[in-house]
Amino acid sequence: MRMANVAGRLALIDERGAVDVETVSAGAFSPDPQAVFDRWDEFSRWVAANASVIAGSPTRDVDETQMEAPVPRPRQVFGIGLNYRDHAAESGMALPEGDPVVFAKFVSSIVGPNAVVELPSESVDFEAELVVVIGRRAHRVNRADGWAHVAGVTVGQDLSERRVQFRGPSPQFSLGKSYPGFSPIGPVLVTPDELPNRDAVELGCVLNGRQMQKGRTDDFVFTVPELVESLSAVVTLLPGDLIFTGTPAGIGWARDPKVLLRPRDRLTTHAEVIGELTTTFTEAPAGV
Ligand code: ZN
Repeated sequence: MRMANVAGRLALIDERGAVDVETVSAGAFSPDPQAVFDRWDEFSRWVAANASVIAGSPTRDVDETQMEAPVPRPRQVFGIGLNYRDHAAESGMALPEGDPVVFAKFVSSIVGPNAVVELPSESVDFEAELVVVIGRRAHRVNRADGWAHVAGVTVGQDLSERRVQFRGPSPQFSLGKSYPGFSPIGPVLVTPDELPNRDAVELGCVLNGRQMQKGRTDDFVFTVPELVESLSAVVTLLPGDLIFTGTPAGIGWARDPKVLLRPRDRLTTHAEVIGELTTTFTEAPAGV
């Protein structure tokens, strides 16, 4: 299943275009793209049972400018640090052992797949990431049941203001990664069965036409099920929550010279099957 937020309405995407969920379900499901996760099992069963109805229903052409964040208002957003071996090495940090490095990305930072993001400084970096969307409430879940608590995946950027992230006696990951627009996601959510291998997803990003990051999630230090186990050992994961699963090597801060985002830059972030999202940047208004 491929799902999208088309101009604020939940849609199923097939090769013909977008099928409006409220319309095709005769009102059984809300048009709110966030609401579906609280009824995820029911919705999945309904889609499977009504495949022919959906395939025969009217579609609208998907105009990419109408695509918004597929998960617009999660209650919690988690970020995972140092989850690829090659990125931990370029950062000069030790690989985490036993438990992942976890921070928050505050939800006001979420935007869709064609966002224009204001740069608060000249120290903003990119991080292409697979983003996991929780489909079932999860507390103290064993890794063997980890994927069963995932609705699907999308691709995103964990944009990072590096000076804020590292300032002070203890790093400030959460603030530096939560400026407005610092969590672009999209363009669609795909269920894990759409992927050739849900544990080896290719992803990366291209800045102004130059490939900057390219990786595959079988290089994870902590797999998706292990992240569900580790996070849910402490917090309760709620339907529609997001986990930014970490970034592969190639970030701008670790380069010599550094490559940081500038006004008018065009950043395209891609993942196999999911597609790509494009983020462009503007400078902060004078006086900020
Ligand atoms: Zn990250």
